[in-house]
Amino acid sequence: MLLGMKRDAANAYLRLREEVDERAAELMRLHAGHLVCRAGCTACCVNLTVLPVEFEAIRRSLACASGDRIPFDTLAACGFLTASGLCSIYAHRPIICRTHGLPIAFAGEDGEGCSVSFCQRNFTDADEDELDFGPENTLDVDVMNEHLSRLNLAYLAESGVNPSADGRIELRKLTEQRE
Ligand code: SF4
Repeated sequence: MLLGMKRDAANAYLRLREEVDERAAELMRLHAGHLVCRAGCTACCVNLTVLPVEFEAIRRSLACASGDRIPFDTLAACGFLTASGLCSIYAHRPIICRTHGLPIAFAGEDGEGCSVSFCQRNFTDADEDELDFGPENTLDVDVMNEHLSRLNLAYLAESGVNPSADGRIELRKLTEQRE
């Protein structure tokens, strides 16, 4: 249970996270022959900022999971990486981390057209047909981010925070705020 978070935003965030996990698992199966993603690969890991609703959900679930202080390596690409290249907050990691390596679709800056991006270590042996991406074999990151943004606005409203004051929060601050 996410103590302290308003019920609707918290539950909706967890449902969105489950949906992303399910879609990511589908895409992993679909593209299995072209993905080299594996435990210990850190190519996509960088220090992140997240929206307040996501920060709070992760903070609370970590507080429930363990009272231990989370180590943070300031020299690593993401401070939550362990020496063996594993994520120390894996079960609680942000939604974007759950899409690492997979083909994600997003609209161009002018809102026209659609681009697809994936880790360059993947699809290295794919032929042209296998690089024919569409809604059926990509994750629509714009839809995902819109959903997350709406949840964040709901969370801020429930918490009485002025949406104009909404800023992203460095994930590393999880190490400062344990309960
Ligand atoms: S939180 Fe975990 S999965 Fe996400 S970038 Fe950091 S180490 Fe990688």
